[in-house]
Amino acid sequence: MSTPAKITLRSPVTDLYGIGPEAGKKLAKLEITTVFDLLTFIPRRYNDWSDISRIDMCEEGKEISFLGTVTTSPVRKGMKKQSPVSFYVSDGTGRIELSYFNAPYIMNKFMIGDKIFVHGQVTYYGTRAQIVNPFCEKAASADELKLVRPVYHLTAGITSNMISKWVGTALKLVKGQIPDVIPASLKDRENLCGAYEAYQYVHFPDSIEQAAEGRRRIAYEELILLGIGMKYFMSVGGPEEVAPIVVPHGNLSSDAASRWKTVVGNLGFKLTGDQKKALSDIQQDLMVSKPMNRLVQGDVGSGKTAVAILSMAMTAIMGKQSVLLAPTSVLAKQHYDSACALLEGSGINVALLLGKTKASLKKEIKEQLREGEASIIIGTHAVLTDDVKFNDLSLVIADEQHRFGVRQREKLLISRDGSDGVNAVHNLVMTATPIPRTLAMVIYGDMATSVIKEKPAGRKEIKTHFLPYTDGDDIYNVLIAKLRKGEQAYIVCPRIDDDSEVLAPDEYYFDDFFDIGEQTPEAVSVKTMKKRLDDHGISDKYPSAVLYGSMKETQKLEVMEKFLSGEIKVLISTTVIEVGVNNPNATMMVIMNAERFGLSTLHQLRGRIGRGDKQSYCVLCSDNKTERALERMKLMCECSDGFELAGKDLELRGPGDFFGTRQHGIPTLRAANLFTDAPLAKTACDEVNKVFEQGGKEASDLMDNIGVMFKLRFAEKMGTL
Ligand code: ADP
Ligand code: MG
Repeated sequence: MSTPAKITLRSPVTDLYGIGPEAGKKLAKLEITTVFDLLTFIPRRYNDWSDISRIDMCEEGKEISFLGTVTTSPVRKGMKKQSPVSFYVSDGTGRIELSYFNAPYIMNKFMIGDKIFVHGQVTYYGTRAQIVNPFCEKAASADELKLVRPVYHLTAGITSNMISKWVGTALKLVKGQIPDVIPASLKDRENLCGAYEAYQYVHFPDSIEQAAEGRRRIAYEELILLGIGMKYFMSVGGPEEVAPIVVPHGNLSSDAASRWKTVVGNLGFKLTGDQKKALSDIQQDLMVSKPMNRLVQGDVGSGKTAVAILSMAMTAIMGKQSVLLAPTSVLAKQHYDSACALLEGSGINVALLLGKTKASLKKEIKEQLREGEASIIIGTHAVLTDDVKFNDLSLVIADEQHRFGVRQREKLLISRDGSDGVNAVHNLVMTATPIPRTLAMVIYGDMATSVIKEKPAGRKEIKTHFLPYTDGDDIYNVLIAKLRKGEQAYIVCPRIDDDSEVLAPDEYYFDDFFDIGEQTPEAVSVKTMKKRLDDHGISDKYPSAVLYGSMKETQKLEVMEKFLSGEIKVLISTTVIEVGVNNPNATMMVIMNAERFGLSTLHQLRGRIGRGDKQSYCVLCSDNKTERALERMKLMCECSDGFELAGKDLELRGPGDFFGTRQHGIPTLRAANLFTDAPLAKTACDEVNKVFEQGGKEASDLMDNIGVMFKLRFAEKMGTL
């Protein structure tokens, strides 16, 4: 139990007095492992108790603060051990009874005549007003107390008071150790407080304004760490020049032109205007020797895959190789099938490389890549970071980028071409998550963006409905109605079986945990749902199968194949199908315990249907009736636009919350809001870069400090994402 001689920012929290291994485990759930993590665990909001009122202004249900004098000795009211301890307080305008349950120590804490501060919620007991379990401290005036109380995101077994106490201990021990990462010029102009004060202000503010002042400083700090840190401490460097790939249309050889025509002819549909625009942006980028660094943003179902494959076809026709990275093998296989169909007859060789690919075949594929016989390779990033060597790799496309850590992406931007030299390649990222431009710049560096807004022609809007229960005939009836027409369905559940943990109900976890408390309805599992379909006799007529992440790769692919071919009618799965799965004949999606998923996840899931010309339905089932849950369900039913939902998501969570960070593979931001603070990020980073340009001591100090803090705050966490 002894505190080691020196506590530093990187010390484990369990080195702090009062934090044992059990508490340490709980804190780890909140992503707090080091002392610095604890300090940057910014309160989600504050309770302001500083507004002093009077006892005669009591109203049922109202929270009040007042100063008064104890007029009766605390006594136990009743014989039982659990009987409350009560006493009266008066403030000259009236008197009120304070009652404490489970707090025998109160009997010795207060005496007649003590001046006290009280905060609590007023309830009426007959005609008598009382306050049960109020906050109560001896104090002659309110100035003696900290009355702005931080409220933290919590997990079971940890209270805001515990966090406050630990932060208090930590702050005393690390005084003078927090490196300053903000240039003097910015500090002056924005009137920012000191590095150490900022943490004091957010955790122990004298006023709400002071807390906001601390948070503002820490937000700047975070954004500088992210913007500058990513650039200087994460990038792998490498040559700035690449060989241009695409020659202008007019100059295409007749052979190349006819191969391109074959590919476009295979499409089977007309590209939308936005798809064409994205493709032409890409083509322009590929024509010059500066490496392309482009982000294609398009809502789910907007047709990003076609753009990716056509870009690779362009590259292949010009005699260069390209890679398409998918986050899962299921998706890689699907992209491979689309590519094969699209490239048929064009003479372009496509290869698929998965973890489960047989060793002999792997060897053959690698040989083909090294010799340049295969010009397009599709696979998961795990496979491609191996010892794969290319003959002439020019383009790397990552689909659904946010599934990869930033680190993996960086690695792939270097081509391993057989020689040991490092070559830059063109880089294209496809994402369905809307990212404002300034934010993209912070995360991805100087990235150009193409947006696909237009939906392919003939698409019907998905109809979304809410059912306030998770078991019931309605669910099976709507399902059967669709299946009867020969269409297919997804059922998504938040966990695999009844013993397994509920799969990370993503970003909403803390809030919902907090709201629902003990009454959390049981989460329906994939296996339970399968059993229900079997019991209802649905599986007899319409074969169903389960799919989840921890299944064997070969099994997963087999299930997917059967679902795509129509042999399996109902796919019961976890969120593994969230990303990219494409079966236009699936027109129905039922999401169980929908309240457990964030809006962006729900929207991604829903994007699996509505991919053909038939009317699709999404049914959200939830027996959770908290206001927050209902509000999200309502938004989902009313709104089908991903960009709009992202905005609403932000509104619902409020600033300072963490939409968007996880999706982009970077650790949670705690003070800054990547959406609303994006302009601020740019100003701050510009200011730092100015200092760097001037050089000298301020520049080198600043660089050192940013390095230290970036490692503490982000770099060490990114490896594990
Ligand atoms: P996402 O942007 O979500 O990756 P996909 O690329 O998977 O979307 O496309 C969704 C579906 O739309 C696929 O079945 C694809 O073949 C089809 N599609 C793509 N572009 C068009 C288009 N211009 N017209 C009609 N259908 C299209
Ligand atoms: Mg896709």
